[in-house]
Amino acid sequence: MKVTFQPNDVLIVVDVQNDFCPGGKLALDEGDEVVPVINAMIAQAQESDIPVFVSRDWHPRHHVSFDERGGSWPEHCVQGTKGAEFHPDLSVPDNARLVSKGARFDIDQYSAFDKTGLVSELVHMNVKRVWVVGLALEVCVKATALDAVKNDYETLLVEDGTRFIDRADAEKTRAELKDAGVIFK
Ligand SMILES: [Zn+2]
Repeated sequence: MKVTFQPNDVLIVVDVQNDFCPGGKLALDEGDEVVPVINAMIAQAQESDIPVFVSRDWHPRHHVSFDERGGSWPEHCVQGTKGAEFHPDLSVPDNARLVSKGARFDIDQYSAFDKTGLVSELVHMNVKRVWVVGLALEVCVKATALDAVKNDYETLLVEDGTRFIDRADAEKTRAELKDAGVIFK
């Protein structure tokens, strides 16, 4: 799809990491299919001088969110492992701003805004609109988009650049996001 960036936009790419792609520890069947879509958006953002933020799930070993600790998820995206690396085909630009989350020992962080300081950076940059893509749609992408709206940013979600863990959640998730004011592209 053709994205039309405006001045004061940013692109936020959520958690396009090996563990969320086929062969990973918490793999989405089609997780890697977002890569060419997102690469095209990144290229366009670079051409238009639109800042690119790239978030990663970045858990300490034996994180509180893992099932071994009574959490909701199998072990995934452990700091320093191959699984925590970005998908090898993702074109992360040299000037991308990296947002690490899930690194706290005491809590999980689904949203790229959750206690990461991202809002203060967007305020500093005078950002007005936020484009969100990445993995997974009903978890970290949803949380990020909802927080963007909560912080009064016009929020656009390019669905072709995202995937669900479980498509059974698709309608409910879309409705929740649209009700909150997220614009689907
Ligand atoms: Zn995680």
